[in-house]
Amino acid sequence: MVSRVIPVDPFDLVIFGGTGDLARRKILPGLFRRFCAGQMPKDARIIGAARADMDAAGYRALIAEAIAEFGGGRTCEDGTLDGFLERLHYVPIDARGEKGWADLAGLMRDDVVRAYYFSVGPSLFGDLAQRLNAHGMTDEASRIVVEKPFGRDLASAKALNKDLATYFDESQIYRIDHYLGKETVQNLMAVRFGNMLFEPLWNSQYVDHIQITVAETVGVGGRGEYYDKSGAMRDMVQNHLMQLLCLIAMEPPSKFDPDAVRDEKLKVIRALDAVEPHHIVRGQYEAGDEGPGYREEAGDPRSRTESYIAMKVGISNWRWAGTPFYLRTGKRLKARSSEITVVFKELNHSIFGEQQDHRNVLSIRLQPNEGITLGVTIKEPGPGGMRLVDVPLDMTFADALGEDGADQTDAYERLIMDVIRGNQTLFMRGDEVEAAWAWTDPIIDGWDARGDVPKTYDSGSEGPVDAVQMLARDTRVWRKVAP
Ligand code: NAD
Repeated sequence: MVSRVIPVDPFDLVIFGGTGDLARRKILPGLFRRFCAGQMPKDARIIGAARADMDAAGYRALIAEAIAEFGGGRTCEDGTLDGFLERLHYVPIDARGEKGWADLAGLMRDDVVRAYYFSVGPSLFGDLAQRLNAHGMTDEASRIVVEKPFGRDLASAKALNKDLATYFDESQIYRIDHYLGKETVQNLMAVRFGNMLFEPLWNSQYVDHIQITVAETVGVGGRGEYYDKSGAMRDMVQNHLMQLLCLIAMEPPSKFDPDAVRDEKLKVIRALDAVEPHHIVRGQYEAGDEGPGYREEAGDPRSRTESYIAMKVGISNWRWAGTPFYLRTGKRLKARSSEITVVFKELNHSIFGEQQDHRNVLSIRLQPNEGITLGVTIKEPGPGGMRLVDVPLDMTFADALGEDGADQTDAYERLIMDVIRGNQTLFMRGDEVEAAWAWTDPIIDGWDARGDVPKTYDSGSEGPVDAVQMLARDTRVWRKVAP
């Protein structure tokens, strides 16, 4: 199978924070891969803008190093790197002062797509938006891309939205959640809405429950102090797990169009039940072979921030009332694994007598080994009567699609190309983000008010035992956290 590369229009992409960690690890190596794939037009330019004083040659050297380190080992033809580096420019700039703005304005071209990537802390979003406007660098076709975290509660998210809305229309604002750029996440929509098989069963009448797991093996490491101000709820659930939940639970949009999709996601968030305290388990990892304990890494021996969370979430609408969604995410767990599992109900009646507890389970793996598996019940081969066995119908993309399946485009590169194309489908709208915080805030406020202390769990385990008990009370079990 040959993957189709659809070229994009010529562009000037300015990366504020172009020397930072995210730019070096994800954005520039991703753009390089798009260049290698032949997707970048000849007159596309990428302009790094950051605090450090350097010239274009210095910036090209910095990015060449970053591509060598973080490029994922993908090789392009000889000489391709030079071709890519030639497109890079650099302007030293101060987001809060006047330095660099006139130079940047002088560099921008009028007749190409202008995109501004805010790869800086959110405290600078308003300054950047204001200066872009003051220097006449935007028109109605310009776009801005903003990184997470988009606020730390409803009030701060509203303030950010208001700041950006002063200078940009919602149609120009691309709020990144890189989970939405993952191949499998988009495949989730293809599977649901591109097949006759699943959608008729996709409701509380046929689905027993749904699990969403995002497990990491790494701890907070050197980011401990920073992470301690947010925790798993703000860092993962409010955004990434919430987005996955929306795509699983939403009604079919009338068409695959940015606002149609986002309208449906928003309705899901607004239908989420408030979560009872006994339906949440928070955890902190202890020291182990893998490294120091959470509190040590956070630099606060009394930290109450969670590095793990598991919760039972209900959705009050016709489709889902009565079907729980179990979400969990954590650091320093047994394996790195992200998966959505739809567990269907048992048959109403089994003609095979005793063997009733066979259920269909659909698993959608985000990482590793992106793919979809459907567990189906068949007859165990061989003589001796009718014995049933569950077998997986496995569609690991790498196996099913050959090289293209394995060579998954990174989420960032896909999303940046969508920005250039002007397609907002995989970006969060302002009202979605606010609704997600409106649901999250009372949960976090409740912990603060009660002085809730997270449970401890062993590094390299599957998380706190309380999370297992939470499901056991519902006579259910978590899927194994396995690579
Ligand atoms: P970083 O600290 O490594 O880099 C910050 C960049 O911003 C640098 O290029 C710096 O020069 C620039 N900068 C800072 N103050 C400036 C100013 N006053 N004027 C002009 N430039 C200024 O940060 P990072 O890790 O690259 O993160 C950038 C943003 O992306 C943050 O909002 C972060 O939360 C978010 N993010 C980062 C990651 C990641 O993996 N690093 C992942 C998701 C989201």
